[in-house]
Amino acid sequence: MVPKSLIESFVKVWNEQSLFHKVQEHTINSGWCYHFALLMKKVYRNKATLYSSCDHAWVKIGHKYYDSKNPEGVNLKSSISMCCCGLKCSGEILSKAELVKFWRHRGRSGPVKHSVINKAYALYKKVSENVVAK
Ligand SMILES: [Zn+2]
Repeated sequence: MVPKSLIESFVKVWNEQSLFHKVQEHTINSGWCYHFALLMKKVYRNKATLYSSCDHAWVKIGHKYYDSKNPEGVNLKSSISMCCCGLKCSGEILSKAELVKFWRHRGRSGPVKHSVINKAYALYKKVSENVVAK
């Protein structure tokens, strides 16, 4: 449900736009999770629900929870949620605007860069259309 090409598109576009603080595929979850969750939301739209705990953001599609490290999805929310504050935050459903606001000052990749999400989405679409055309 999380296509490899979506992860690759995000990493490529982020690193093109950022002079420092580069991301790698395996580090998306360590500072870029909310960017990636918003990208997933853009791809799957109404099918995807945004979730956030104090220390992680991810999406639910169907009955499973997904992030960049769980491309096949997990059944239990507790398997994907992360808490750093000691309150055992299990994750809440947030709207897109709420998630953007929540992560404004707490994410290592800074406030949400909508331009990166939009460009990564466009690149992903282009790549998947080329795959289909072949
Ligand atoms: Zn917490």
